[in-house]
Amino acid sequence: MKYEVVMGLEVHVELATESKLFCSCSAKFGAAPNENVCPACAGMPGMLPVANKRAIELGIAAGLVTNCRISPSITFDKKNYFYPDLPTGYQITQFYAPICRDGHVDLDIGGVTRRIRIKQIHIEEDAGKLVHERGATLIDCNRGGVPLVEIVSQPDFRNAEEVTAYLEKLRLLLSFADVSDCRLQEGSMRCDVNLSVREAGAVKLGVRTEVKNMNSLKAISRAIEYESQRHIDALEADSGELVQETRRWDDGAGETYPMRSKEDAADYRYFPNPDIMPISISDSWVNEVRNTLPEASNEKYTRMTEELGVSHPDSKIIAGSKRLADIFDGIMAHGLNAKEAASWIVTELLSMSTEENKSYDDIHIDCDKFAALISMVEKKTINRNTAKKILVLIYADNIDPVAYVKENNLGILTDESLLEGVIKSVLEENEKTVEQYIAGNEKVAGFLMGKAMSKTSGKADPAVLKTILECALNGRR
Ligand code: ZN
Ligand code: MN
Repeated sequence: MKYEVVMGLEVHVELATESKLFCSCSAKFGAAPNENVCPACAGMPGMLPVANKRAIELGIAAGLVTNCRISPSITFDKKNYFYPDLPTGYQITQFYAPICRDGHVDLDIGGVTRRIRIKQIHIEEDAGKLVHERGATLIDCNRGGVPLVEIVSQPDFRNAEEVTAYLEKLRLLLSFADVSDCRLQEGSMRCDVNLSVREAGAVKLGVRTEVKNMNSLKAISRAIEYESQRHIDALEADSGELVQETRRWDDGAGETYPMRSKEDAADYRYFPNPDIMPISISDSWVNEVRNTLPEASNEKYTRMTEELGVSHPDSKIIAGSKRLADIFDGIMAHGLNAKEAASWIVTELLSMSTEENKSYDDIHIDCDKFAALISMVEKKTINRNTAKKILVLIYADNIDPVAYVKENNLGILTDESLLEGVIKSVLEENEKTVEQYIAGNEKVAGFLMGKAMSKTSGKADPAVLKTILECALNGRR
């Protein structure tokens, strides 16, 4: 029998705001446990929520980049449930009037466009987290109240490749719009997959399970693979073991486990939060957000290739990562040649980070110092060789390249009489090689060039040095 897998995604994305959704606590990642907690987000009696305007603007931005309709009026509602990481006993979310509806994202799958429809986007608060340690369970409420958007797709996915492409596209759209940094590993982007399997051609959907707890694209693909097969096996065996439930992916074991039977909306007793008045979103507010959206990834790609003359491969890499794009803009602010700047990022900076097997997001470099370095090469203050070595030091130790060149006397050597002297002594010390050259083996010139370069501690202007070497060798023929 032939089967078809049908999936819908719920993607939670943490919004890049300074403060939480309904209080002024910091929303930054990485603070000491329970450092960012106040009476309001801890659910103390008498505290009232105040909506964060920036979070709503980022919600609008999320809708704009995913082609949604922005609702003219939104409400916040209470979703009631008990869990130790939820001190208020309810999550504030949007049930009755979400901020965005009816959008879509187009994917390019092997040259074919696949449209994924977005049902809605709603803003909600995150919960705290439980830390299980030495037989005890600790509660950290830092993340409680941090703003999220939940992006709910229609059941338009048929395979893991489409899911992966969609998440990569969302990440590109949202990170370039400064909505979120969208990091799966750190949990600022989380994806739940609703999956069912039916006979190919059938109209009715099969029993649906929801799979949670995948924190990489690879884990998501493996979980989809596993869960689809589990459904197919159950259908084949007609075992009746498929039930609507939420399952947890265990990446180590490569399996999903039941977490809880899947609740329906009614179980949560949603009701409007009486402490938060409906918020109207005027067309002019939407336009204001639209007009201040930063350059999108595809716009950056077009500008780089068409206006700045950067190569297509380099532009694709840089415009494919918000972090690299920020570094590019950061160094370009110093008026460098765009092609050169891009090539320094793609060839030199990335080769260092791939050595350390880092993701692009983990690359940190002081753009002012990086730009100063490239500009010294452009102005022929130092040669490219020296610059590459200094870049390693900026990357690792954040040294000041201008001071470093001065202190270590690394300026480029262009003085012809000095370089002629260098070549003369290299030829004297390598008589045998020179004879090979005269006998017709011109390849050995590279060896002599290397010897001469190292005599200048790598500081010679390679073009000048090469001319002098060629001249001297030809004189000996
Ligand atoms: Zn707070
Ligand atoms: Mn949610």
